[in-house]
Amino acid sequence: MPKAVYPASFDPIHYGHLDIIRRAAAIFDEVIVGVYDRPLKHLLFDVTERLALVREAVAAIPRVSVTAYGGLTVDFARENGAQVIVRGLRVVSDFELEWRMALTNKQLAPDLEMICLMTSREYAFLSASTVREVALLGGDVSGMVPPRTAQALAAKAAALSGDRQRETTVSLTD
Ligand code: ADP
Repeated sequence: MPKAVYPASFDPIHYGHLDIIRRAAAIFDEVIVGVYDRPLKHLLFDVTERLALVREAVAAIPRVSVTAYGGLTVDFARENGAQVIVRGLRVVSDFELEWRMALTNKQLAPDLEMICLMTSREYAFLSASTVREVALLGGDVSGMVPPRTAQALAAKAAALSGDRQRETTVSLTD
């Protein structure tokens, strides 16, 4: 079976991503998880933090490696000798984005295939933005992310609430 890459921003990694990685690892000889360094969205974790959390989360899954990348995903796939780009599908709205990306990637790199795995039912609701929102509001994310990621989210939430308190104090004393 060919080699696959699974590219995402992983801000942060959650159980929906891990489910896709595990299932891809059962299909392909090798899965290279690509942590996209600069997505066009506001990030909670920088690339070093995201990379460390993904590495820790997949450490026990055989035939999976993790690396950060920038630029085009098709170039990342080719540089790593992959023939397949794996993505996950949760809801119908995911399909539109993935379809557009698949057609674009096909135009850029006709030799690569994009394969979408359907989410497992229990993760259909899960997205990194939901995880971030719940964690930053002080909610329990232990059922959504691996333990180390939950700790990192709690630390971020504490740091951000400290910053907000300092800003309020500064503006009140100005
Ligand atoms: P998120 O959508 O969680 O913010 P990304 O944008 O980094 O994460 O998503 C990267 C890939 O992982 C996409 O193909 C997306 O559909 C897939 N994915 C994200 N969450 C899930 C999930 N709960 N189940 C299956 N696939 C998912």
